[in-house]
Amino acid sequence: MTANIDRYAVFGNPIAHSKSPQIHTLFAEQTGQSLIYTAELADIGQFDQAVKNFINNGGKGLNVTVPFKEDAWNCAAQRSPRAQRAGAVNTLKLQDDGSLFGDTTDGIGLLRDLTQNHGIQIKGKTILLIGAGGAVRGVLQALLEQQPTSLLIANRTKHKAVQLADDFSDLGQISGCGLNEINEARFDIVINGTSASLQGELPPLPDSIFKTAACSYDMMYSAQATPFMQWSSTHGAKQVFDGLGMLVEQAAESFYIWRGVRPETAPVIKQLRLAFTQQKNSE
Ligand code: NDP
Repeated sequence: MTANIDRYAVFGNPIAHSKSPQIHTLFAEQTGQSLIYTAELADIGQFDQAVKNFINNGGKGLNVTVPFKEDAWNCAAQRSPRAQRAGAVNTLKLQDDGSLFGDTTDGIGLLRDLTQNHGIQIKGKTILLIGAGGAVRGVLQALLEQQPTSLLIANRTKHKAVQLADDFSDLGQISGCGLNEINEARFDIVINGTSASLQGELPPLPDSIFKTAACSYDMMYSAQATPFMQWSSTHGAKQVFDGLGMLVEQAAESFYIWRGVRPETAPVIKQLRLAFTQQKNSE
């Protein structure tokens, strides 16, 4: 019987590809929590109603992905300071009074993956962050709080990068430019926060952006190395990572917000990585 089990879900459009149900089911098994987590397709313009229906049917919390993170921000009666600033919410929690609390866990997810899983130190480093969409907005505060020497946002549409840098300028040394203005600068850490990899594309970048021993990180993840990861490997990056760890870490933070229990992420990352390897070997 599932009638009284707490329900959670990820809402998006499209959503079929989501790994969140698998991740949260593994977290629940590992921590002995009784819950059901599903992937829910919401129609564009119907997010609020979809959330209401879900809550009325026993929903206790939601993850929110493209294109609803701003709608989720608007839905939340209260927000964490980091969500308030990011202007995006990826985690909603039903509170005792029936209202929704909104938070964003993408920043902590990226940070934990970089620093704890991969041992990358951010303090004193130069960072290039490519893209200026919701994902980049969500990770800026977490990165700047680590006190990098500088953080440059470069985006295809320049004015979005400049605006973002302006919005976060009180938190550190941050600037924005167009992709064609990166010029000859070299960086310790280069993060691809564009959705170019989703289309199998590579943002146009200068050939020498990596310092010696630099690290390259693509927020995208797939069984195969993304175009950005392949390009990084052949253009001087010493370490190259995908965003699978970020995905699992941001999910763990959401799980903690909902259940008050922090799951172990390493075994879940390992299991998803193994599934990728098996998928790759069968292709
Ligand atoms: P958005 O749609 O909000 O933003 C997309 C960004 O990518 C924009 O800056 C856009 O530039 C840029 N872009 C798109 N196509 C290209 C291209 N061909 N060349 C150069 N730039 C391009 O998406 P999100 O910010 O929400 O997501 C970005 C990526 O991050 C996705 O791949 C997503 O899967 C990933 N992600 C991963 C997470 C994880 O846990 N691992 C969590 C959240 C996101 P412009 O402004 O010019 O249109």
